[in-house]
Amino acid sequence: MRTTNLLMPTLREDPADAEIASHQLMLRAGYIRRLAAGLYTWMPLGLRVLRRVEQVVREEMDRAGAQEVLMPAIQPAELWEESGRWDQYGPELLRLRDRHERDFCYGPTHEEVITDLVRNEVASYRQLPLNLYQVQTKFRDEVRPRFGIMRAREFLMKDAYSFHLEQESLEATYQAMHDAYCRIFQRLGLDFRPVEADTGAIGGHTSHEFHVLAESGEDAIAFSDGGEYAANVELAEAVAEGERPAPAEELRTVETPGMKTIADLVTNHGIPVERTVKTLLVRGAEGGLVALMVRGDHELNEVKAEKLPAVAEPLTMAEEADIRAAAGAGPGSLGPVGLEVPIIVDHAVAALADFTAGANRDGEHLFGINWGRDLPEPETADLRNVVAGDPSPAGDGRLQIRRGIEVGHIFQLGSKYSEALGATVLDEEGRQRTLTMGCYGIGVSRVVAAAIEQNHDERGIAWPDELAPFRVALCPIQPGRNAEVAETAERLYRELSEAGVEVLLDDRGERPGVMFADMELIGIPHRVTIGGKGLERGVVEYQSRSGEAAGEIPLAEATGTLL
Ligand code: ATP
Ligand code: MG
Ligand code: MG
Ligand code: MG
Repeated sequence: MRTTNLLMPTLREDPADAEIASHQLMLRAGYIRRLAAGLYTWMPLGLRVLRRVEQVVREEMDRAGAQEVLMPAIQPAELWEESGRWDQYGPELLRLRDRHERDFCYGPTHEEVITDLVRNEVASYRQLPLNLYQVQTKFRDEVRPRFGIMRAREFLMKDAYSFHLEQESLEATYQAMHDAYCRIFQRLGLDFRPVEADTGAIGGHTSHEFHVLAESGEDAIAFSDGGEYAANVELAEAVAEGERPAPAEELRTVETPGMKTIADLVTNHGIPVERTVKTLLVRGAEGGLVALMVRGDHELNEVKAEKLPAVAEPLTMAEEADIRAAAGAGPGSLGPVGLEVPIIVDHAVAALADFTAGANRDGEHLFGINWGRDLPEPETADLRNVVAGDPSPAGDGRLQIRRGIEVGHIFQLGSKYSEALGATVLDEEGRQRTLTMGCYGIGVSRVVAAAIEQNHDERGIAWPDELAPFRVALCPIQPGRNAEVAETAERLYRELSEAGVEVLLDDRGERPGVMFADMELIGIPHRVTIGGKGLERGVVEYQSRSGEAAGEIPLAEATGTLL
């Protein structure tokens, strides 16, 4: 590609309305342009990066045995009525009506559509397990779209859905997806953590989120290195500031929030509640588990918290079901159950936040914490590498709380959708059996922004090779005045392109400073400068975007070096 053929409208100044680095840089580097709130056009450079993410995602999904399909974005209301979500899903669901007055929605996710497909096309256990995925545009009418494509209304998601007869089969596929996600984010060069997550409104039992670590992340995640302790972000913050004792002390005096405080927050501070029912399990002062339910109502703007009877741990499935029933909460709305998780809820804000945090004793189970979007954010600087105290077994107790960007989310859904829609198959004995399901999402477009959060400096984006829109930038100095420079640049361009290297030739005839600034802003990992003086000595100049490598390369070796 030549810059003269490329629509690359770079900006020198940071756009005023962009708050975080990735949003600023995607606008400045001409990667995206805004159409309306939460709606963006992907420009040629941005689209190339997006396609690279898609490519890696597809390769790893295929390798893990999933098959690609493509479902419609527009979905009929009838399916959502069957699942019950037409009424449950709030204003994030964009509802439409066609010329025949039929109701539709623009899909925020595809459980209904895929379950409908499978109930029609799969009849026998022999066709299982089945894992179908797509890379497709979603629409969610986010209450507060922001940070550019990071929290957009229209965005690209990879969503996969698996179908099984038995739980063991679901668990095997879930593990395969967990592994595939790790490979995907590793290949993309991201510093990420899988954390155990709340299953929230989507339902189901087991769930993990994948978070890219970044200060600008909207979520906070807690992880211990094999540790004993866990804490919510608020407590960790207070501990870090020396205001509070370590969690071990705190656990003995923990108090659950009262109804008044929470209602007060909502009515007097206008904090909206995104979820209608939230049940948390917390370890009470006496060591028993206490279930705490927080109910919210969008319309009434009212929230109630009730303390449910303390229960002995560990919870059995039956006890868990009882608590759910008592809480009036649907399946899957309980927080972590039956694990030894000292979650500390001593403040109404923590309870209201879309929240759970913790790590179990063996440190394997990590829980994500989502801050309520509109709650006061903690000072990120204070949250890094918090040592939460360790008067218990040696070597345990180091808890890190870091900000994260949710780039992936996997669930064991169970039979919520297959039951509602009647997706069954005949088993080996010829009995009709309801399928069990998993679902697996990656925010493909969000990954681009998350990657920029981790790969930039004051000069712009600094891509790793795997994600770069072009691997090599060729910058000829004054090619209009020096025919040898122009010819050499053309020759290198041809040789590299033929060898399959994606190369961008800056043929605009701009000053070196302008060329370098643009190539650094858009993030090309390798830059070769071709100048008259160098050519007299038979060399070109190499500079890596990371700043790690720079120097002269003999012209004869240039192509070979850059392959
Ligand atoms: P969030 O907590 O950020 O709102 P979510 O939990 O609602 O995300 P999921 O339903 O788990 O999202 O969807 C799967 C993935 O889609 C998420 O992990 C995230 O990477 C991506 N995603 C969700 N909402 C958006 C959005 N508004 N813009 C871009 N990507 C998104
Ligand atoms: Mg969301
Ligand atoms: Mg989430
Ligand atoms: Mg999620």
